[in-house]
Amino acid sequence: MYIISSCLAGISCRYDGKSSENQYVIELVKQGNAMPVCPELLGGLPVPRTCCEIIRNESGEQRVVSSEGQDFTREFAAGAEKTLEIARIIGATKAILKSKSPSCGCGLIYDGTFSGRLIEGNGLTAELLMKNGIEVINESDL
Ligand code: SF4
Repeated sequence: MYIISSCLAGISCRYDGKSSENQYVIELVKQGNAMPVCPELLGGLPVPRTCCEIIRNESGEQRVVSSEGQDFTREFAAGAEKTLEIARIIGATKAILKSKSPSCGCGLIYDGTFSGRLIEGNGLTAELLMKNGIEVINESDL
């Protein structure tokens, strides 16, 4: 069983009110092999919502902030915890998550400057799932 990013299944839950449909992921859902989850909605954020990126200070501490500087770390962390809870309930061992997102991104994320630059790193949900033994890939790896 897979956990998958809801936006990949065609649900319009992205920050800009759009989806990121992926046909392979949609088929997994239709076959009953995947559970769509949007960590940011689970964390209590609305659609549409302000664009956020992860920033790190010198000691490596990370926060999730909007382009206006508002701190949404708590909401993103709560969404990650709830996603892990769902993964455990359904016995998911794998996740296919949306690339580059501060929640779902795996391997590469935006660098926190809102300039479109990418750096190595994981979104909060991807990181938490991986720490708990769930294999995470992005839709771009399919
Ligand atoms: Fe898609 Fe994940 Fe962003 Fe939700 S949090 S819109 S599932 S990338």
